[in-house]
Amino acid sequence: MSNEKIPYKIYLEESELPKQWYNVRADMKKKPAPLLNPGTGKPVTAEELGHVFCTELVKQELDETTPYIDIPEEILSFYKMYRPSPLVRAYCLEKALGTPAKIYYKFEGNNTSGSHKLNSAIAQAYYAKQQGLKGVTTETGAGQWGTALSMACSYFGLDCQVYMVKVSYEQKPFRREVMRTYGASVTPSPSNTTEVGRKILAEFPDTNGSLGCAISEAVEAATSQEGYRYVLGSVLSQVLIHQTVIGLESKIAMEKYGIKPDMIIGCAGGGSNLGGLVSPFIGEMLRGEANYQVIAVEPASCPSLTRGKYAYDFCDTGKVCPLAKMYTLGSGFMPSPNHAGGLRYHGMSSILSELYDQGLIEARSAEQTSVFEAAEKFARVEGILPAPESSHAIRVAIDEALKCKETGEEKTILFGLTGTGYFDMYAYGAYNDGKMSDYIPTDEEIAKSLATLPEIK
Ligand SMILES: *Cc1c(COP(=O)(O)O)cnc(C)c1O
Repeated sequence: MSNEKIPYKIYLEESELPKQWYNVRADMKKKPAPLLNPGTGKPVTAEELGHVFCTELVKQELDETTPYIDIPEEILSFYKMYRPSPLVRAYCLEKALGTPAKIYYKFEGNNTSGSHKLNSAIAQAYYAKQQGLKGVTTETGAGQWGTALSMACSYFGLDCQVYMVKVSYEQKPFRREVMRTYGASVTPSPSNTTEVGRKILAEFPDTNGSLGCAISEAVEAATSQEGYRYVLGSVLSQVLIHQTVIGLESKIAMEKYGIKPDMIIGCAGGGSNLGGLVSPFIGEMLRGEANYQVIAVEPASCPSLTRGKYAYDFCDTGKVCPLAKMYTLGSGFMPSPNHAGGLRYHGMSSILSELYDQGLIEARSAEQTSVFEAAEKFARVEGILPAPESSHAIRVAIDEALKCKETGEEKTILFGLTGTGYFDMYAYGAYNDGKMSDYIPTDEEIAKSLATLPEIK
């Protein structure tokens, strides 16, 4: 089909919404390494995980062989309130850049949580409800996951307890209020409501908090209350599975117009949106059906893929979670306090880590001032105010489109626009005032943090 026929927005019909999620591990010959019990050093069992996570989600977490998993009807009806999400042809950005590249983005910001996180939140809340639980606990960094989960929990009538990284709790009072509006209780982390929180506070009284620390508190809160389980918005394989609805829809939308991306770009924090966007495409690569260039973009201040080590590590600061083999900076790594762009987790999804190790994914890092520069350029021509996290993908999409301008190549670029940035205006303010700086950790800092990796025999 000729380009002129491709609309600005490709919407799918409600009936075209995928009915199954895709589990890319089924097509991987070499699977991601198993989660280990930190006490015994042996692969964790479903029973052990079942103390922390919902039973059905444990099944999905450990399932390496089922390629397609049915999406329950109740989740589908919730999805229908905000999905299918549009695939947008960035005609205006292409024109502004003067590039022959064709740029598409899959926009996940069209819901109150403002991000893709709702795709997994609704699934996790559903399985918790099915199990007859009273509620769930979780952590949130920038606040998108906590917001998404509080929306999902209020829908199913579940209690929702959120540990919010202290610096975000203070900087983003409106995020907090959105969560409370949906009925969640929100505690700044580290807090003195948990043993692990009190321990961290005693050791580092002035800490700004971190995701790893909030995870430890949320896990403790779940395991110490009857009828509660812990849920997580990224990193885990179950979350990647739920997020494949993004990639599956993108593929259906592109195929309608006979479009094939040459390059697929996504930002990477814990890896869930990128994994969800690229899994169906990587499945084709694994089955030898197609080839794509896949690029993960991470902040230069928290560079797990580009400068971390592929090793077993703790998923949280308090070392209460199972060990995962992943690209990591060490569970004690804290990004510089001037880092405003999200994506501050020390590790990375074990699925994406393995795909990266196998060379199926590339990774790049971007400095935050250049990320906000890209965000502003994008906002001014495409209209959407992007989340700082999403803007990492915008940065590299623009860089690649500009390369096409030099070479004259008409590459088709697909990137994930994971959300909107309305709650990030302090960060935008710092950028607009010229007060934003870049901080790149030194090799010594990273080595120091990596020196604390657990020894696996
Ligand atoms: C949470 C979040 C991310 C990063 O998480 P991943 O698990 O790496 O996808 C990216 N963008 C937005 C808008 C988010 O809320």
